[in-house]
Amino acid sequence: MCGIMGIINKKGNAIKKVIEGLEKLEYRGYDSCGIAFLTANKIETIKTKGRVKDLKELIDTDTKSNIAIGHTRWATHGVASTINAHPHTVGDITIVHNGIIENYKELSENIDTKLLSETDTEILCAYINKLYNENHDMLKTLAKLKTDIKGSYALAIINEDEPDTLYGVRKNIPLILAKNDNEYFLVSDMTAALKYTNKFYLLENDEIVKISDKEYIYDSDLNLLKKELLTFEGTSNDVMLKGYPHFMLKEIHEEPMVINNILSYYLTDGKFNENMPEFKKYKNIYFVGCGSASYTADIAKKVFENYANIKCEVFLASEFRYQKHFYDKDTLVVFISQSGETADTLEALRITKSDGIDTLAIVNVVGSSIAREAGKVLYIKAGTEIAVATTKAFTAQYLLLTLIALKMAGINDLSKFYKINEALETVFAIDFQKYAEKIYTKKDAFFIGRGIDYGLCEEGSLKLKEISYINSSAFASGELKHGTISLIEKDTPVMGIITDENLALKTISNIKEVHARGAYSLFITSLDIDGDFYDDKIKVPHINNYIDPILIVASLQLLAYNVALLKGEDIDKPRNLAKSVTVE
Ligand code: GLU
Repeated sequence: MCGIMGIINKKGNAIKKVIEGLEKLEYRGYDSCGIAFLTANKIETIKTKGRVKDLKELIDTDTKSNIAIGHTRWATHGVASTINAHPHTVGDITIVHNGIIENYKELSENIDTKLLSETDTEILCAYINKLYNENHDMLKTLAKLKTDIKGSYALAIINEDEPDTLYGVRKNIPLILAKNDNEYFLVSDMTAALKYTNKFYLLENDEIVKISDKEYIYDSDLNLLKKELLTFEGTSNDVMLKGYPHFMLKEIHEEPMVINNILSYYLTDGKFNENMPEFKKYKNIYFVGCGSASYTADIAKKVFENYANIKCEVFLASEFRYQKHFYDKDTLVVFISQSGETADTLEALRITKSDGIDTLAIVNVVGSSIAREAGKVLYIKAGTEIAVATTKAFTAQYLLLTLIALKMAGINDLSKFYKINEALETVFAIDFQKYAEKIYTKKDAFFIGRGIDYGLCEEGSLKLKEISYINSSAFASGELKHGTISLIEKDTPVMGIITDENLALKTISNIKEVHARGAYSLFITSLDIDGDFYDDKIKVPHINNYIDPILIVASLQLLAYNVALLKGEDIDKPRNLAKSVTVE
């Protein structure tokens, strides 16, 4: 979490461009921000507890500077405050940091600087300053971090002693070096630099970047490396609102495009092509993910079980890491992460690999750590996702997993998938505000469904709570009466979901139970079911059992969006959250 943007150029407009970059990176963390720049060979730092727009007000962005580093923070050590905001300076050294320094206490015993903030970052900064004072060699100093620092970091560093040089180093946290003919950018992700270039170097763990007259990239033994300059596929359109009021709404409306991307890459004329590998040899599948990525797996699991007859289990990455495993050579472990940098998922992948088990990554960000480290990777081709609440990436993950399940099931007539986009347009035309009006003033909400519909409930509930702050829970619908039904009061919203006709009657009974107790029951379905058991109904088109979830998910996303909109919440940047969870 957190966004880093460093620039070095000769034009003197580094401050303006860093601020612009931070605006793009703000979705990664937004509890405070700051910038440090060199002017007249002195480092000046400006920070605020506010957002980047507040930072902008504190700075004359026309001040001439050739080198600047900026940061949008997602606090891990110390509250969100101006003093804890980055950059931090100790002696000649100024840094911005993404990650967690686990041995900060031990390091603090080795430094004699009086610290101003509560952050692990300032201690790291003091430690770098101490090493530099001993050896007067920045490269040697940064090479030592590999052995001395426990934890994770991406750092952009300036040293007042070397006013025309920018340094960077990373471990288990992304950092990218982008460049064009006139300037260099050290960034957390390419969205910050895309306006100026799509050329970049991917930095590996422990590599050190020095940018002065040109770029130098070293391994941790300080051997100079020759790395390939890569081209980023996305466009700057991905990071612009393009007339939408929020990225979340824009990204929901991009789902048809993402579906086309996936279908045209993995299928030809409605049949699997060579881009879809064969996974037939596996007898069971484990899915590992966090948050929505685990829910996409809960839904897809049913398709694997029902159509491919494959035994599946879904694990939360943060639990998987610390539990006993019973996988074997017949198991494929599938790691799902939009960013490809989710710390718990990445560690779970490493454990699985070290046990010699086959791994597959389902990832959006090309070249991310999970994509690079997994045995195989399939990309979801969703383009950049900016809103913190995932929408199009969730849909893309589910679609891709479903295609894998059907491939394993030997089903090769996939023509029905080409009907999704027309059906999605029907969903987009529904007036969700009308239902949101019955929900947005409530403090609790519930989602109930069985089987595949329970997975949909989990995602619908998470979407609602993360952006509207309504305390929402998902239940396998038979469970509600084993305790939680006591929470149902007059007008408590209960969303009942049915896509599976075999389970419809049972779920209808459960919706009746809450309806009878005064709940506001909103029935969401792809099937032609009517009755007196609901207050309102959202009907999406019906295609088939494994495609309907895509249409239901779109309706749940739009319902949550409309509730948050009525509440006037900061939809793209919900409180306490950040986009890519690179801390454990
Ligand atoms: N651990 C650092 C802090 O709390 C960095 C957090 C971040 O990645 O934003 O300041």
